[in-house]
Amino acid sequence: MSKTYRVNEIFFSVQGEGMRVGTANLFLRFTGCNETCRIETHGFDCDTEFASGRDMTIDDIIAQLRETGPTCDWIVLTGGEPGLQVDRELIDALHAADFKLAIETNGSIELPAGIDWVTVSPKVAEHAIRQRTADEVKYVRGYGQGIPKTVVQAEYKLISPAFSGDQLDARTLDWCVMLVKENPDWRLSVQMHKAWRVR
Ligand code: SF4
Repeated sequence: MSKTYRVNEIFFSVQGEGMRVGTANLFLRFTGCNETCRIETHGFDCDTEFASGRDMTIDDIIAQLRETGPTCDWIVLTGGEPGLQVDRELIDALHAADFKLAIETNGSIELPAGIDWVTVSPKVAEHAIRQRTADEVKYVRGYGQGIPKTVVQAEYKLISPAFSGDQLDARTLDWCVMLVKENPDWRLSVQMHKAWRVR
């Protein structure tokens, strides 16, 4: 029997944050996460539904990706936590099907090699971060939270103001603007897909 992956959804949209903002991507969203982000512990409440899903083989996944975004050759692997499921077999199969791969991970799991663009958005304490190299590292910051002392080696370091649902709080944005002004090796990254009303 063919191996399956638990997939929450596949959709075609525009990347709303990070250094790849504004580019068209297929999003392959996996079921399940190993974290529980809450405002009391993380400065924001997780607003992602990652409990539901269906089992798909690699062939099922590629067929649905091609049907969903026939013009697109970039896939964002996301979740939940995609590192719970993404493995070398899937990476190789998607590359063989001529896709390029980005991933958005909470950093708690060391990823297989070969992913073309790695975004680590830590949701665990620094000592618990296992994926310590990335193209970009992105921290969500709520009002009053300081600049991170990250263990992740990344070309780009980003601060993302916490949203409350679909709303960006002006005080939190002002706080994050202040953080990047005082720490010029960090950049501001706002979740523009929420403002653009795209998924
Ligand atoms: S790591 Fe991401 S998906 Fe998981 S609970 Fe936190 S915000 Fe939600």
